[in-house]
Amino acid sequence: GAAIRFDAVNFGYDRKRPILKSVSFDVPAGQTVAVVGPSGSGKSTIGRLLFRFYDVQSGRVTIDGQDLRDVTQDSLHAAIGVVPQDTVLFNDTIGYNIAYGQDGATQAEIEEAARAAQIHDFISALPDGYHTTVGERGLKLSGGEKQRVGIARTLLKNPPILLLDEATSALDTGTEQEIQGALARAAEGRTVIMIAHRLSTVAGADRIIVLDQGVVAEEGTHSELLARQGRYAALWNRQVMG
Ligand code: ATP
Ligand code: MG
Repeated sequence: GAAIRFDAVNFGYDRKRPILKSVSFDVPAGQTVAVVGPSGSGKSTIGRLLFRFYDVQSGRVTIDGQDLRDVTQDSLHAAIGVVPQDTVLFNDTIGYNIAYGQDGATQAEIEEAARAAQIHDFISALPDGYHTTVGERGLKLSGGEKQRVGIARTLLKNPPILLLDEATSALDTGTEQEIQGALARAAEGRTVIMIAHRLSTVAGADRIIVLDQGVVAEEGTHSELLARQGRYAALWNRQVMG
């Protein structure tokens, strides 16, 4: 794993409107830190700063003590695996889809990534819409299965850091559980920032950061946050903590 640190980070997309205000938190190597908070509180912005789509205006973000501004783009992109909200599948087997863009991957590595993402049963299957000249059609994958293909694709890269930004759309409970299971496996041995909308989906995280209007309003384990419900009733009531 690799340790991530946000240290007194200030950021706004334009200088007049601060979005993150003196945000500090640590993600120790190999741990999972969840970031929850209302819509617009700045959660995805944290991910964008980590990936250096934008640079901080003051403060700093470090990986293993090194300022991101001193890390090359190539090594940053190799270090961070982004788990997409929406996985696009090509007209080929799931195994091919997992390996797409990673020409050096061996069959054993592809199978290992598929197993870790719990999509191994489908590795030889063809996604829905696959056509051959004889009109063969494939298997329709559920949303959760598709996302697990995306997780496997990210795992094949074997990045020390995973960045997950959960889709806003509510998933049904079964699908959410499938994905959570695959993510828990994926998280083993890695440093993970998991951005989520509800406290219930991040119960397994080592620590949870609650962002409110760009400020770290609360930080603790799942049970610690639940025990402090009184203090953050307004946030709770806004459905963040469902
Ligand atoms: P959600 O739960 O809806 O995904 P979020 O907590 O991820 O919300 P961010 O996407 O980090 O919120 O956005 C924080 C604030 O920054 C919002 O007010 C948003 O409108 C604003 N914002 C986001 N991206 C941009 C941008 N490219 N330019 C200007 N403002 C932006
Ligand atoms: Mg967001």
